[in-house]
Amino acid sequence: MAPIVPPLSGRKRRIAVMTSGGDSPGMNGAIRAVIRMAIEVGCESYAVLEGYEGLVQGGDLIKRMDWEDVRGWQSEGGTLIGTARCLAFYERAGRLKGAKNMILNGIDALIICGGDGSLTGADKFRTEWPSLIGELVKTGELTQEQIDPFKQLNIVGLVGSIDNDMSGTDATIGCFSALANICEMIDKVEATAASHSRAFVVEVMGRHCGWLALMAGVATGADFVFIPEKPRSENWRDEMCKVIARHREIGKRKTIVIVAEGAHDMQGNKISSEMLRELLADKKGLALDTRITVLGHVQRGGTACAYDRYLATLQGVEAVRAVLDATPDTPTPFIAINENKITRKPLVQAVLDTQAVAKAIENQDFERAMSLRDTEFSDFHQAYLTTTTADLDDARRLPDKKRMRIGIIHVGAPAGGVNAATRAAVAYCLTRGHTPIAIHNGFAGFARHHDDKPLGAVREFDWLEVDGWASKGGSEIGMNRELPGDSGMELIASLFSKYKFDGLFIIGGFEGFHALSQLREAREKYSSLCIPMTLLPATISNNVPGTEYSLGSDTCLNELVAYCDKIKQSASASRRRVFVIETQGGRSGYVATLAGLAVGAVAVYTPEEGINIQMLAADITHLKEVFQQDSGQSRAGRLILVNEKASTVYTAKLIADMIKVEANGRFESRDSIPGHVQQGGVPSPMDRTRAVRLAIKCIEHLESYEDRGDGAILSDSHSATVIGIKGAQVVFSPMKEVEEIETDWKNRRPLNEFWTPLKEVVDVLSGRPKDIPRPESPLMGWRAKDKKRGLL
Ligand code: ADP
Repeated sequence: MAPIVPPLSGRKRRIAVMTSGGDSPGMNGAIRAVIRMAIEVGCESYAVLEGYEGLVQGGDLIKRMDWEDVRGWQSEGGTLIGTARCLAFYERAGRLKGAKNMILNGIDALIICGGDGSLTGADKFRTEWPSLIGELVKTGELTQEQIDPFKQLNIVGLVGSIDNDMSGTDATIGCFSALANICEMIDKVEATAASHSRAFVVEVMGRHCGWLALMAGVATGADFVFIPEKPRSENWRDEMCKVIARHREIGKRKTIVIVAEGAHDMQGNKISSEMLRELLADKKGLALDTRITVLGHVQRGGTACAYDRYLATLQGVEAVRAVLDATPDTPTPFIAINENKITRKPLVQAVLDTQAVAKAIENQDFERAMSLRDTEFSDFHQAYLTTTTADLDDARRLPDKKRMRIGIIHVGAPAGGVNAATRAAVAYCLTRGHTPIAIHNGFAGFARHHDDKPLGAVREFDWLEVDGWASKGGSEIGMNRELPGDSGMELIASLFSKYKFDGLFIIGGFEGFHALSQLREAREKYSSLCIPMTLLPATISNNVPGTEYSLGSDTCLNELVAYCDKIKQSASASRRRVFVIETQGGRSGYVATLAGLAVGAVAVYTPEEGINIQMLAADITHLKEVFQQDSGQSRAGRLILVNEKASTVYTAKLIADMIKVEANGRFESRDSIPGHVQQGGVPSPMDRTRAVRLAIKCIEHLESYEDRGDGAILSDSHSATVIGIKGAQVVFSPMKEVEEIETDWKNRRPLNEFWTPLKEVVDVLSGRPKDIPRPESPLMGWRAKDKKRGLL
């Protein structure tokens, strides 16, 4: 008997997607990406509903999916194809039924988005596959001919989990959304804590993984954090009370203690919220008015943040590509992200490592538990310790002669995370005994304050003031775009000498980069400038050479995504409407493209590509077709994102008007400009936590130059650097090299922007026709490569 549903020809597959285990924000984005990408490459798409239960029961729970079925899914929370715990799948009998149902539907690839449990089940399924299908023949459930075409089962894992507990990947789909929920709640609790001078114990999720608790602690500047991987010392009670007493002594009015639900002491005894409350409220000790807040399921709730949406989308796309590349010898992969790079890794090893962490915690081998977590995790742990015990830890203080006077200056326009970076830098300086000095209002303030024009000020940071900056937006010390050369380098150099700076830490955008370039060049002439200097890129445009990520860009994307969601929804009453939204970003299309990826824009116009009349005409024709075919099942509007500098002629308003005329009453169009909303109010947790980690690395880097003479500084290319995330690494790149090789000075952006190929993903997933005429750049990235390889 021939197979009931024969497999597709050649390398084409019938790909099913499934969500399993706990739901997490972003899962719907992954499902959408898998389904559409599979269709794009000529495969057929299916969804297995209700997790493994759907696989075991089969029938209507395995459903063919079309392009239109997943329209607008990125904006929905949870999982729209359902998830369930499935006891039957733990047993071979259940997996046997699953195998039969796969073959009956002709499905030869399964992409599973779930936690480590779900992925363990997936790996077991693939390992057992030959014996499962053998048994199905033996028992007469299927014939040999039916199973023959299905000898190879392809499985790819996507990690969907709010806990971020999977080894081998820096982030799981959903963890940053959960972190955002937690931080939002803590920010609210903080306000009431400060008003009443209260303490709050906040309990967050995480049985074996303290990522949420630790990151929330770093992002909010909590006083104390308890995580499962690293219990505090034997006398954690005294330790906590000492830290909090010190914070109160210097004038802090609020106390926040974050405890992961799986926190325990060195002997493995649970540390509960109630124990902590009693300790903080103890009349003989701190005697604080203390409340407990258990965050519970709100942590899972809501729609996904921008990062989870584009992570889910890019990983979904990569999962389909991994299915196409798989051979019988490829070990089951899962899709990971390391810093900024999406990678494929063997699933078995990651599952084993993840289970090893839980085992190490159980065996109270905490060194091993920490070592099994990623380096980023221990970086954050160290960063958290540094920022909460800023001036308490005598052991880390440097001897007098190694201490430095470090100037800190903000240059450019405000971006989320600038204050958090400053706070962390100050905390690190104080821990080591350095003197952190605030230069107010950028180089303009620096140049003018001494001239009886009190525009700025130069003064030592005060910890109590800075301690409250972890979650503050804007720039507390003021910033502007002026360059040192604008005031005259002679004057700036004399001020460096006057304040005896031993190092300079600049936080800012392209102007910060330009400022550092000027200072570096002027070093030959001025001895006072022969000090180590480093730039931490911070700008919503994410256009600083030397890095793929700038502080503030994540906050901006979140604002833009929230704005687009609202606008899209507003169309639901009138139904047929296109919104043309103008985004910021200077001459870099990063923000427009990534937001387009996160909201599913029908087109994104960037300065890199430009806009011409042929392209607009083709897009408008496409829109007409889309609306013609739309029988009204999807009420949400369509979005086009236009970067503010994509064209000097075709503005958002003009494009919207052109569409209106061409639509001839069949649909409407409007332009919309979110403007400065994109700078964001409260910075996102990603911007805040990365700010802390990168700022500390910057000061550590400056510190490594103590005591160097002018000659040594001049001859060392790393004495003027920009810190950045490049691919899977955090690196300090020498300014001279970046200026000369990586910078497009005219357009104020990096020469090779890492995200350029992502534009094609936006186009593919929104169904934009392949033959849209493009003014400047030919097809780039993977679509071009795929064409060459005959996959498209
Ligand atoms: P998570 O994937 O979020 O870690 P669970 O551990 O509850 O969640 O796993 C979800 C589902 O995956 C389970 O209900 C079960 O159907 C399946 N599963 C988990 N572990 C295994 C396993 N060791 N063998 C087979 N199936 C498993």
